[in-house]
Amino acid sequence: GSTIGILGGGQLGRMLGVAAAQLGYRCHIYAPDEASVAADVAAEFTCAQDDDIPALEKFADACDVITFEFENVPVAPLTAIADRAPLYPPVAALDIAQNRIAEKNYARTHGGKTAPFAEVTDAASLDKAIADIGAPAILKTIRMGYDGKGQARIKPGDDLGKHWDSVAHQPCVAEGFVTFSHEFSVILVRGQDGAIRYWDTPHNIHEDGILAQSLVPAPAEIARQEEAARALAAKMADAMDYVGVLTCEFFATDNGPVFNEMAPRVHNSGHWTIEGAITSQFENHIRAICGLPLGDTGLVADRVEMTNLIGGSAGEWQALLTDSANQLHLYGKGESRPGRKMGHVTKLFF
Ligand code: ATP
Ligand code: MG
Ligand code: MG
Repeated sequence: GSTIGILGGGQLGRMLGVAAAQLGYRCHIYAPDEASVAADVAAEFTCAQDDDIPALEKFADACDVITFEFENVPVAPLTAIADRAPLYPPVAALDIAQNRIAEKNYARTHGGKTAPFAEVTDAASLDKAIADIGAPAILKTIRMGYDGKGQARIKPGDDLGKHWDSVAHQPCVAEGFVTFSHEFSVILVRGQDGAIRYWDTPHNIHEDGILAQSLVPAPAEIARQEEAARALAAKMADAMDYVGVLTCEFFATDNGPVFNEMAPRVHNSGHWTIEGAITSQFENHIRAICGLPLGDTGLVADRVEMTNLIGGSAGEWQALLTDSANQLHLYGKGESRPGRKMGHVTKLFF
């Protein structure tokens, strides 16, 4: 078949759509918002809610394979359309990755280390969690957080009631603050035959909980933890019978890699692969879900820098083109907000 369905209408869907078009596929995008930036690259666009079963059924019937670029699509409606078109990555991976406690437990089950953590359901359990774990700590909503949203950083002596209010009394996980030298991610693709390929490991720099930069190759402190981190990510991918791109975020610590979270999709820390790798994460995701052979993930430069363009306006960011080596990606988001990812820029060094 030749129609790929993508659930979610953000920049990841847009970049998947470009890669799909290159391989001769048409995309049908399903998103709740008419103003989705992925709509520009879609042959067909359905604007409907994530749990609108009749709309999802119609969408699934029009697609040969379905994937998602947004990891918070509710699982139950997807299960309801499961017999209409194959869905990759599998629903099981979404189910785990949508829940910070489930994903930490999953990593532990497969031999990974995580921060100490405890579930928080009310003010009393937050008091108990911080008494057990200690401070500093981070309180995160179990579901739906991204770009550091839905998080509170707890310092020793803080008024915990205020932090509980700041997360709107939603079910949370309290995590001990990990002392790390660097952050990095394992980005892998797993094919329908179980073959796995990894991209080079990026060193990820976050500012205010948002990814600011990904740098490849990573420094030695990360490189020596790469093997253990990859082995954990591969074990989890195999156990989920995963198909597509999977990203696992880690902290590099004196005790080895500490798993933070996973994203069952293409990932911002892999945007550098568009120009910096022989085959990008987007292309290999499309290849994997379509059952095609995977492409070479090798690095094409000595060094790659990817920088997110956060806030600001497209017009301002176009000034980056005055450096002719800058490869600029603007996502077509009309409205700028502080903390909003408007695009990214990649630079290769030879
Ligand atoms: P993303 O946009 O990556 O999905 P997110 O909102 O899911 O982000 P996390 O990745 O859990 O949030 O946290 C964002 C950042 O906050 C991390 O990359 C890291 O810099 C910092 N952070 C999160 N948890 C911890 C921790 N337990 N110890 C130390 N730093 C942490
Ligand atoms: Mg996350
Ligand atoms: Mg993260």
